Formats: sequence, structure tokens, C-alpha cells
Amino acid sequence: MEKYLSQLNDAQLAPTLQKDGPMIIIAGAGSGKTRVLTYRIAYLMSQGVDAFNILALTFTNKAAREMKGRIADIVGDSEAKNLWMGTFHSVFAKILRFEGHHLGFPSNFTIYDTQDSQKLLGSIIKEMGLDKDIYKTKQVYSRISSYKNSLITVKAYFNNPELMEADAMARRPRTGDIYKEYVDRCFKAGAMDFDDLLLRTNELLTRFPNVLAQYQNKFRYILVDEYQDTNHSQYLIVRALSDRFQNICVVGDDAQSIYAFRGANINNILNFQKDYDDVKVYRLEQNYRSTKNIVGAANSVIEHNKTKLDKIVWTANVEGEKVIVHRTMTDGDEGRYVASTIWETKMNEQLPNSDFAVLYRTNAQSRAIEDALRKRDIPYRIYGGLSFYQRKEIKDITAYLRLILNSADEEALKRVINYPARGIGQTTVDRLVVAANATGKTIYEVMQNIDTVSININNGTKNKLKDFVTLIESYKVMNQNANAFELAEHVTKSSGLIRELNKDGTPEGVTKMDNVQELLNGIKDFVEGQVEVADSTGSLAEFLEDVALATDLDGDKGDPNHVALMTIHLAKGLEFPHVFIVGMEEDLFPSAMSMNTRSELEEERRLFYVALTRAEKQAYLTYTVSRYRWGKLIDAEPSRFIEEIDDKFVNNTTPMKEQRFNPMLDASIFGDIEPNKIRFAKPKSPKFKKKDTKKKPENFKISTPKKLKPVSQSNGASNLFDTKLTVGNKVNHQRFGRGEVLKIEGAGGDLKAEIKFENGATKKLLLRFAKLEII
Ligand code: ATP
Ligand code: MG
Repeated sequence: MEKYLSQLNDAQLAPTLQKDGPMIIIAGAGSGKTRVLTYRIAYLMSQGVDAFNILALTFTNKAAREMKGRIADIVGDSEAKNLWMGTFHSVFAKILRFEGHHLGFPSNFTIYDTQDSQKLLGSIIKEMGLDKDIYKTKQVYSRISSYKNSLITVKAYFNNPELMEADAMARRPRTGDIYKEYVDRCFKAGAMDFDDLLLRTNELLTRFPNVLAQYQNKFRYILVDEYQDTNHSQYLIVRALSDRFQNICVVGDDAQSIYAFRGANINNILNFQKDYDDVKVYRLEQNYRSTKNIVGAANSVIEHNKTKLDKIVWTANVEGEKVIVHRTMTDGDEGRYVASTIWETKMNEQLPNSDFAVLYRTNAQSRAIEDALRKRDIPYRIYGGLSFYQRKEIKDITAYLRLILNSADEEALKRVINYPARGIGQTTVDRLVVAANATGKTIYEVMQNIDTVSININNGTKNKLKDFVTLIESYKVMNQNANAFELAEHVTKSSGLIRELNKDGTPEGVTKMDNVQELLNGIKDFVEGQVEVADSTGSLAEFLEDVALATDLDGDKGDPNHVALMTIHLAKGLEFPHVFIVGMEEDLFPSAMSMNTRSELEEERRLFYVALTRAEKQAYLTYTVSRYRWGKLIDAEPSRFIEEIDDKFVNNTTPMKEQRFNPMLDASIFGDIEPNKIRFAKPKSPKFKKKDTKKKPENFKISTPKKLKPVSQSNGASNLFDTKLTVGNKVNHQRFGRGEVLKIEGAGGDLKAEIKFENGATKKLLLRFAKLEII
């Protein structure tokens, strides 16, 4: 342990070694908050605290796995295995499996993902005969979600005239009725949605003091990472569980609070000191992640926020390169710039793909980047978006599996009752739903008793329904002895799913078959214990829970050497040597939806702060003059955030030609687009003198950024690809400085030189790219 503690500085050591009592670590990005949490857990264990008594809550399951791996390195595998670590959702889903019966839920309850929830809401809205253009499922869903996260139950809703009025004002006066029906239907289906996992945990801990006492006793030490992004529901759970022993350690950074739109409450961090007695407050100030230029740039941006805790962030790291700002004409050009820069940098410096990340504000931006990376054969992976488990063919299979475990699961049943087609039409399903609602039975129960229920369905169809029940019952029997893999394999074959996919000979069909195979492989790995899950027995129930709670960053399988593409929201807590932040444009980042209030704009700025601080060595900001959005070419103006970075940390690399570009003279590069449709960011009404004041009006839009001073691309160095370079030559490299050629190998475009630089590093550089000068 001593050895590990020496890897912390004094400021980090103090909270690590404080064993008991409430404490909060408020510190800027990259200052080692997550490292302190990790080492603190290891330290607690070395002091005799039982792993079973420690609960650590993280932002993603991946973060939990990594943390656990690190702790295992320190204290050993067998001990680390017993830690309770994971996201709020996964930890409390596990507890609800044991305790949900108090609330009337079966232990094998289903977890509805967002898609399931929205489908159910869609059916309810239809059944109630409401206008689906007014009652948009997504909007109703997020409304209900926000009620749940604020602990507003159906009963509380109907006791609150203000809420009802607000929904009526939004032209959705029946929201409360939908909410009620939705909750009842989930309950009847033995299902919880994501928000229920927190809401029901709160209900459990409030209504059943014995249960609360039991878990208070169990979790004697509680640690929470990214505390600034907890919502009210999560806050109350942590509060309740830590109330007895008060050994609670939370870490966070108010400047990185980016989930207010989903109910995260920054006050949780600000009020922590009021919630417990004798709270120790720790601050960490030294950033270990990034260069001086990146830290300086990030600090200068966040300065513009009014609502913030004063914090110092400095670094002893090298000064490094300035933040590169680069303008392109279109989003296609932007993609190409990103791809070629990645390619050149990786060749020049011999870096793996995984050293690069491309971050964007919205998922839709990934397409142009993907196209460009593909053209250059650079492997990449998109995080977020539609996850593997949400693809249709995968959801079809998991729906069968869900139904085996919990036949009350309405959404799973509706999904596969007629897939593959077995002659059970929508009218029949609608009648089953009506009968189920009228009798208080589940749809499956209605089907099991189809001969005795009064329902307008003909005998032929009734037989088909009985066949379906028989099929599912046969799977249930098999589930008693077979493992999850055997069962899943049997289901895909015998249900006709494989046959259905085989019929489809298109490339998409083939991809779907591959995905099914991938799913089966995944289940096999899971059963064989290759996927690490605490206390796993490899059961079907556990597998499905894992699937339901896989966060967007999880399931990172395959070759790890890829460029990461993700939204900034997802990048929280991560770090990469080279980070591209693309789409730095007004109305995109900051988002057009965030311009109404100062607090929304400040949240966007925090998001930018998070993005910048992911970079270790080099950050690139790109923006375009015009961009395709919503199927149209839109004029774009550079983001105000670029302007907010202190000049001294920025290097504008927009090529001279582009900066002088005149759309009227040079419109040909736009192809079909009429030049007069292209508006350039020109100073319209300069509302302030540049940099003469710190305070800018919030609605200020920057015009042509002053940083667009042409900078020469060439520094005298040239590519020596076709130059005669020999062993022993002394050379100068743009980035690594002076060195001596040790070896030359390869031929033509693959010609490489091994160079020992004076800074101690020896690098193999591809001469095609290396900007070398013989000296
Ligand atoms: P974020 O706010 O982005 O979540 P953080 O405060 O959690 O950041 P960490 O991720 O824990 O910061 O640390 C940032 C980087 O600095 C990591 O690579 C970590 O290993 C490294 N680091 C932290 N503390 C030290 C230290 N004392 N010595 C060397 N490296 C350190
Ligand atoms: Mg962290």
C-alpha cells in the first residue's frame, strides 16, 4: 500500500487517509479526484474495512470496472471482487431484485429501456384516443421522467395544481392520466423503467425502515464520483444510506455539471456541507492530465461563468502545443481535416488510433467524421447512439428471453407475439390488451385462459395464441436446466427468427445475422464467466439485467485500437492525448436550445470546459462556414466559446487560402450551391471592442474571429520523402527538436527513419509525413 500512496501528492493524500466521517473533494478537471476515490477504497481495505461494506457509485459501469481493476492490482482480486461498485442504476437494480417484493414487484422484474417505455406510452396515448401530434411520446416520456426524478409520484402530481396547470398550459392536460396509466401498466407487467430504479429504491428505503437499516449497516463506507451530476432522487438515496455512519466521501467539480437538463442538481454539491455534521472539505489544485496551454485555455473559458465556486487549477506539465483552431468551408471538409490530421499525427509520431478522440455536441455530427475516417481506413468506434442491444434483431431475441423470465412483460410480448409472423394480427393484440385491462390480468394470462375469457377472437386465431403460449412454456421448462447460452441458441432457432433473417439476402440482412451471432457469443462469454460481473452465476436473469443497464460506454469489445467518437456528455471523466472538438459554431455549440437563459448558456460553457479538459497533449477546435443541418445548408458562425479562450493559448491554423476565400469569386467549390446563399461571418455590428472588457453581453455573437491571422503552414521544414537522407544525418523535427538518424528502412511511401532525439526519445518516423530538416 505504501508504494501506492507514494503516487499521490499531499493534497490527494489527506482525503485518502481520512478513514471516517463525511468529506467532499471539490476540484477541477484532471486533478486526480477519481484517482483519490480509487486509492481511498484500497486504503480502507488495507485498514481492515470489509469489501462487502463499501459502496462506490460511478458514472458508467465501465468506470466502475476500471476502478475495480485498479483496486484489484493493489489489494488482490479475491478481495476486490466483493466490492459493490457501479452506476446508481445497476447497484440499485440489484438491491431491488432482493427487496422489490416489499413493493409488490417480482424478483425477476423486467427493466424497460427507453424504447420500451416510449412504446408503452405510445400505446397508452393511442388507447386513450389522444392526438399523438400533441401528446408526443418523447415529450410525455421526458415529462414523466422528470417527475420521477423529482420524486413526484402520481399521487403527488394530482395533489399539485401547479403541475397540472403547467401541463394544461402546454396543451397536454391529460399528462397526469397518462402518467397514472403508465405506472399501473408497468407495475402489472412486473417492469421498472430506468427512473423507477431510483424512485422505487427511495420508496423502499422510506417505507421500510428495516430494509433501510439493513443497507445502512451494510454500506458503512459510501463513495460517489461525479457528484455534481446527481439528481434529487440519487441524492436522497445517498443521504438515507449514509445517515447512520456518515462515512461518506463525494467528489466532484461544479464546473463540470452538465446534466441539469436531465434533472441533475448542482446544489447537491453546493449544499453538501449543510447536510452532514463536521464535513471536511478538500481541494485539489494540480492538474496532472493536460499541458499548460490546455489548462490555461480551459481556465480562461470557465472564467466567463458567473455561477461557480472559485477554484484554482494549475499544472506542472509541459507547456505543450497551443489549442489549434481550424476553420473549414463545409462539414465534409471538417471531417477530412480531422481525418487527415489524425492520420498525419499518428504516422509522424507513431501513435495508436486510441490516442485520438473526436467529440461533438450532437450525435448527428458523427456522420461526416465517419465518412472521412472510413476513406482513410482509420478504425473508429462510435459510442452512444443506438447501442448494440437496441438493434431490432437483438431486441427481438432478448424479448423472447425476457418473456421466459417474466411473462407479464407487456412490451416483450407485443414485440414477438407475431414475429416471426404467425397469423396473429394487430386487431387481435388490441383485443387482448382491452381484455387484459378489463380483467386486471396480464396479456399472457388472458392468452393462457383464452377459452374462458369473453373476447371476440375466432377459434383459428385462438389456436394460434395457444400455440404461442405452448412455445413460451416449453422455453420455460428448458430454462430450468439449460444455461443462458443453450437457451438463447435454442430460442433463436426454434422460434423461426434465424429462418426469417436468412430469407433476407441483402447486406443488411447479413449484418443482422452477424449481430445475432455476436449476441450468442456474448451470452456464451457471459455464461463462461469471461465477462466480469460481481457475484455472477451466469444466469439468464443476470445477463438480461446487464443488457438492460449497459450504458453507452459499456460493451466496449473488439479491437481497442480505434479512434473514439462520442458526444461531449459521454466523454465525462475520460482522457485522450489528442482531442478534436468539432462543430464549434453558434446554434450548435452553444446549442440553439440553450440561448434563452443565462443558466442554460452557462451549462453549455461547462460542457465546453469538460470537452477541452479531456485533452492531454493537444486540443483542436474546428468550425465550418456552412453546414448541412436538417437537410439544408445553413450559414454558420464561429462559436462564442472560441473567442472566449485567451488568445495566448490559441493557434489558428486555417490555411491562408481559405481565410482569404471569397465565395463570389470562388463559388465553384460549392458545386450546385448558389454563392449568394452563402453568408460569411462578417462583423455586423461590433458590440464591443475586442478584449477591452471581460464582460460580454450573453447574446453577443462573435463575428470574424480575430484569431484568423494567417499563419504560415511551413516552417522551413519539408517532407523528406524523396530527399536523400542517410544514417548519421543530423535533423530537426518540428515537434521533437534535434536528433540523429540511426536507421533507414522501407521503400517508396513506406520509407522510415529511426531517429534518436536530443530529448531522449527514439522515434520511427514515416518520411512521407515527418517534417524534417537536415541541419
Ligand atoms: P475529471 O474531473 O476529468 O474526472 P479527475 O479529477 O477525476 O478528472 P483523474 O482522472 O483521477 O482526475 O486524474 C487525471 C489524470 O492524472 C489521470 O491520468 C491520473 O492517473 C493522473 N494523476 C492523478 N493524480 C496523479 C499524481 N499524483 N501523479 C501522477 N499522475 C496523477
Ligand atoms: Mg474523474
